[in-house]
Amino acid sequence: MVKEIKKSGKRYFECRECNFVYKNEEIAKECEDYCKKHHSCNMEITKYSIQI
Ligand SMILES: [Zn+2]
Repeated sequence: MVKEIKKSGKRYFECRECNFVYKNEEIAKECEDYCKKHHSCNMEITKYSIQI
């Protein structure tokens, strides 16, 4: 389950495995699934991560 973060009235989603944060819940889920399976990050997914 990705972690939902509320900040400045906006919602963000954090991968609990690698702690990258995404605006898009679907991408955060993909990241978490990938991280759990492979125990590493997928650059094609983490490129969508954001700094909050
Ligand atoms: Zn991840």
